[in-house]
Amino acid sequence: MTASKSHTQAVAAIEELGEWQRALRAQFPIITGHPELAYLDSAATAQKPKAVLDAVQTYLTTANANAGRGTYPWANRTTALVEETRDRVKQFLDDPDPEQSAVHFTSGATEGLRTIARDWLPQLLADGDEIVIPVADHQANIEPWLEVRQQLARQGVHVRVLPMPYQRASGDYDHTAMASLSGPRTRFVAATHVHHVYGGNMNIHRVRRALGPDAVICLDAAQSIGHLPVSAAELDVDFIVFSGHKAMALPGSGAVWARQARGPAFTPGGWSGTPNTAGIASLATALDWLEAAGTDRIERWTVALAARLTDGLRHLEAYEILGCQTSLAADSPVQPRQGIVTFRHRDIDSGDLGFVLFSHGFMVRSDSHCQGNAGERTGSVRVSLHLYNTLEEVDRLLSVLNSLG
Ligand code: PMP
Repeated sequence: MTASKSHTQAVAAIEELGEWQRALRAQFPIITGHPELAYLDSAATAQKPKAVLDAVQTYLTTANANAGRGTYPWANRTTALVEETRDRVKQFLDDPDPEQSAVHFTSGATEGLRTIARDWLPQLLADGDEIVIPVADHQANIEPWLEVRQQLARQGVHVRVLPMPYQRASGDYDHTAMASLSGPRTRFVAATHVHHVYGGNMNIHRVRRALGPDAVICLDAAQSIGHLPVSAAELDVDFIVFSGHKAMALPGSGAVWARQARGPAFTPGGWSGTPNTAGIASLATALDWLEAAGTDRIERWTVALAARLTDGLRHLEAYEILGCQTSLAADSPVQPRQGIVTFRHRDIDSGDLGFVLFSHGFMVRSDSHCQGNAGERTGSVRVSLHLYNTLEEVDRLLSVLNSLG
């Protein structure tokens, strides 16, 4: 049986973590309040546990004030909350040098990437330098870099953009091609930790190996924060950017972590105005909650469910899985699939399939997923999982997909 290794691992993880998962799922009011529905769109945004909802309520009813301005107790508490959450982000990211690094709060990953592009990258680049852009990843990690190139060209600084090479069969980066593509003028690489369509872990340690020690790597961790341990120390990257709302915090929160070891210091320019203090309060609690839940266990759970779904889909003739065709075991040296599985029906339009699935209670994403121009040509259905999803939901989905023939 081809799926035996990943299947055995999936079964073991599901059995071992079942009790843990049931206790945590019970903490999501929107999930328990709608037992007839299955939320399978966590890559778009994650649901919030009660602890996060309570933290926002508590903040707004006990200490709401502006940060860094007033001198009375509520204002001081808010200022402290913002500063403590900066430290919390560093700790959550396993920052190897928290004295040196910086955390800048943003409204999400898109604003974080654009801030680096607008305020920092032009200082790094000189005429003739090269940057690598992940042209089949999320638009949020493509557009800002192209805008910088245009802006610099207007000032007579010409930067070459190298499209990131991909291995078409798996959706992973082609690390061998990357090594021959890049040279001493390759100063900056934008990469993604977990692909938002193919669900693969993009093997960032191989990106670092391919590039050598000097290039700056900016990592879009929108799909990995809260889903698996993200260690700045292990990844050897220079920026980590993420959205709070995908990590169980409120929409409108997010952060840029800047290591400050390669290139100029990251000091976002201009007057930034009042921070999203309620969002920052939610982020602090979301990170505490995720750490207590255990991001390693969340990864095992979602990888196991995704393996079950991938293996099931592979046996249904009518469906084509995007990216890697197999689930890939969690310990695969190649590219473990995280909790995202994207597919098409050979005859049914993906938009229509999304509607059909909702008629059975499944909430999925069905479109082109904001992927860059080098990505897929036609739409697809994306199922993205988090720790509140269950084996029963995945099996029920497979049975509905099967019934559509
Ligand atoms: N990068 C990736 C990989 C994403 O999946 C997303 C959101 N789908 C973003 C960036 C942008 O995140 P946000 O819309 O929260 O700014």
